[in-house]
Amino acid sequence: MPTTPLLPLPDGLEIIAVSMTEKELQVRVTSHRVSSICPQCPKPSRSIHSYYRRKPLELPCAGQTVRLELSVKKCFCREKTCPQKIFPERLPEFVEPSSRLTSRLRTIVQAMAGAFHAKGGARLGAQLGIRLSRMTYLRSLLRFSLSPVDQVKHGGVDDFAWKRGKSYGTVRVDLDTHDSIDLLPDREATTVSTGWKSMRKSKW
Ligand SMILES: [Zn+2]
Repeated sequence: MPTTPLLPLPDGLEIIAVSMTEKELQVRVTSHRVSSICPQCPKPSRSIHSYYRRKPLELPCAGQTVRLELSVKKCFCREKTCPQKIFPERLPEFVEPSSRLTSRLRTIVQAMAGAFHAKGGARLGAQLGIRLSRMTYLRSLLRFSLSPVDQVKHGGVDDFAWKRGKSYGTVRVDLDTHDSIDLLPDREATTVSTGWKSMRKSKW
């Protein structure tokens, strides 16, 4: 099956099959790209070591959860001075290395977490077919490209639960826009104080 407007894919990727389970729509996709860039050198390689499957979640389709079965290569790096002998094929515009979400789903999850915070994002996501935990929404905030701190005029802090009743962190917010600016790993006075000092140095 060629690619479809319902699920546009980057060049070199092709939909092989679509099947339905009780839980989700599964879409098998394979990569036909002839070379991949070594993450260390970085030189292109056409030398195939093996194939493997990744199963990232994709944006939902008509309220149905969509999971890809993505067949990609492992390649040899033939550059003699390179320490990386074997590396997985990279699809940087589509899914980050080791990510369980495609990049376009990650972007949506980040936007939902930023707008509704983890709990609201997870609740809305479940209705849309994005079945992810609150922790995934929370962690997605850590991947944000944060706004330049020197553009924030009025800052504040709030806390959030990594694990309710056990582990809490601190979120720094822009009080004018209500955007999350940074996350701190705990809510200890020293950590928050250090955060404030770094903010002041940054004209916050
Ligand atoms: Zn290399």
